Amino acid sequence: MLEVNGLTAGYGRLTALKGVDIRVDEGEIVFIVGPNGAGKSTLLKTVAGLMAPTAGTVGFRGRPIAGRVPEELCRQGLVLVPEGRHIFRTLTVQENLAVGAMIRKDKAALAEDLEKVLDTFPILRDRFKGIAGHLSGGEQQQLAIARAILQRPALMMIDEPSLGLAPLVIDQVYESLRQLNAGGLTLLVVEQSTARILDLASRVYVLRNGHVVLEGTAPELAEGNALEDAYFGYVADGHAVA
Ligand code: ATP
Repeated sequence: MLEVNGLTAGYGRLTALKGVDIRVDEGEIVFIVGPNGAGKSTLLKTVAGLMAPTAGTVGFRGRPIAGRVPEELCRQGLVLVPEGRHIFRTLTVQENLAVGAMIRKDKAALAEDLEKVLDTFPILRDRFKGIAGHLSGGEQQQLAIARAILQRPALMMIDEPSLGLAPLVIDQVYESLRQLNAGGLTLLVVEQSTARILDLASRVYVLRNGHVVLEGTAPELAEGNALEDAYFGYVADGHAVA
């Protein structure tokens, strides 16, 4: 569904992504993990059309999309839930969801999707008329995901959904991701921590200093210390690498 090859991007003279290859197949939940500054957000922003790559290709559903603007990609089914959620804090939950649905013209199907989203996230039904800024961090994350679902994504990319959340709340957010994936949504999720991801992931990429340093399926990475070693930049004999 998503094919990223040799993707290079940065900020002025700083190259944050240095030739990254990743792919996401239909039906998968793929995680990208890596320490601070590894280039994870830059990767999602470049795929989502918020940044232009300096080299490399991005293919989505068989078509090249590098350089396309976010609105166009969103219409094609590629939707980003950005880091920090970016909800409108002074608007109600209902109004935030309406903003997510603005690109849609199929109002009858939208009403059905809204009902489904409120079934998936019952707390949003309870707080429908409430101010979004009064929601807890976990509830705001659910709102950001719900808003993205109303854009009818085929692939949803989520930047650090567990950021700032308590462990129990992370479990709830991850459970909702599991349900969405079981319902047919393909997911590409960035996380800083490797904790918990193996239960949910189909495959994992570890990103360090703008490079993919490890890729594997969840069962492969559950064995041994390869995931931690790659994350912290150690090779098997304990020596530090890049
Ligand atoms: P984190 O987990 O801290 O969000 P990350 O893996 O998402 O890290 P990026 O945010 O992609 O990493 O950052 C990659 C590199 O690009 C870092 O060196 C960072 O300092 C730099 N960077 C990120 N955003 C900008 C920006 N707007 N302007 C200049 N440099 C930036």
